[in-house]
Amino acid sequence: MLKKMRVAIIGAGFSGLSVAWHLLSLAPCQVVIFDSKGVGGGASGVAAGLLHPYVGEEGKRSLLASEGMAAAKQLVAAAESVMRIKVANREGIIRHVVNQEQNRLFLSHCEKFKDVKSIGERLFFIESGMTLDCPNYLKGLFQAIAAKGGQLVTQEIVDLQSLKEFDHIIIAAGGGIGKFAELEALRYSLTKGQALTCKVPESTLLPEKSSICKGYLALSHEKGICHLGSTYERGEIDATPNTALAKNTLFPKIALIFPEVEKLEILKCSAALRVIRKGHYFPIAAKVRDGLWVLTALGSRGLLYHGFLGKILAEAVITGDDTALSFLSPTRVNLSLSG
Ligand SMILES: Cc1cc2nc3c(=O)[nH]c(=O)nc-3n(C[C@H](O)[C@H](O)[C@H](O)COP(=O)(O)OP(=O)(O)OC[C@H]3O[C@@H](n4cnc5c(N)ncnc54)[C@H](O)[C@@H]3O)c2cc1C
Repeated sequence: MLKKMRVAIIGAGFSGLSVAWHLLSLAPCQVVIFDSKGVGGGASGVAAGLLHPYVGEEGKRSLLASEGMAAAKQLVAAAESVMRIKVANREGIIRHVVNQEQNRLFLSHCEKFKDVKSIGERLFFIESGMTLDCPNYLKGLFQAIAAKGGQLVTQEIVDLQSLKEFDHIIIAAGGGIGKFAELEALRYSLTKGQALTCKVPESTLLPEKSSICKGYLALSHEKGICHLGSTYERGEIDATPNTALAKNTLFPKIALIFPEVEKLEILKCSAALRVIRKGHYFPIAAKVRDGLWVLTALGSRGLLYHGFLGKILAEAVITGDDTALSFLSPTRVNLSLSG
């Protein structure tokens, strides 16, 4: 009998779970995911759940957005089918624009793409936008992986030598990336993101849809709860929440979308580190050397890119052909790609 390929994945966030699901869907293999904190222990566990093609303050359509959306939807469907509940609100997202330039850009999106329409003065509706219930999405995706034979080991990996019995190792460790000397050559930085989970008083009406401007207000699957985000802190950072700083940074931005923001009661402040590629927002999915791969730097576009990049990385691992990853190589991004 042919020996199954054995793959170790470090990190059980959007990246690691996506690669695991695709590996197990593509070929018979043994997949073990290692995470020091369990599923969603990093940025994925605190993400507000916004999934759409127009991420970023400027509002440009992200590279390979259509591919990213399609692959993310496939994973959401996989999670929903095992959970037997909806893990995503598919009712679209409202985008507020704050200046003429953004307004012009979004008007041109309305002409070029089918998923945006103008709905008022400096207001656009992103029909394709979704708001995921991230804890349940992660839980469901992991259950789908477990149903295909994938395993999770709650363990910190400090030395890749400890995984030497595996044919392939995939590092998808999010903000924990700095621990791996093998990845020293990658050009990335870290930013801290904080989000606030808030309760809405009964007398106060939230926007009907999740809404984005300089900050965002993401509707929760729980009635009367919303998430406000997110901060982008640099310098001396760690993943410790700082409610006062998050409130002072976020409330003025959210007031542009939701003037009654001061009425919200803060229930929780969550924080995590994002990995950002230097020089471009597109993530890094690459072969480091034979048997060692990396998927990182999803930045603020974790949901948009995890499905697509997890898929092409898994295909490269299974087939041994990494040419599809070449345009994502750590040193090169082909900026002519369009979404
Ligand atoms: C506040 C906030 C809000 C956000 N909101 C959104 C949003 O609405 N939409 C969106 O698309 N993106 C959002 N993002 C970005 C998104 O969360 C990230 O892009 C995404 O989670 C990155 O996923 P990842 O799997 O690469 O990393 P992570 O989710 O950080 O996962 C890495 C995992 O690796 C584990 N790990 C690390 N080192 C080791 C080790 N040595 N051994 C074992 N395990 C290890 C960690 O415990 C962690 O579970 C947000 C980010 C933040 C911080």
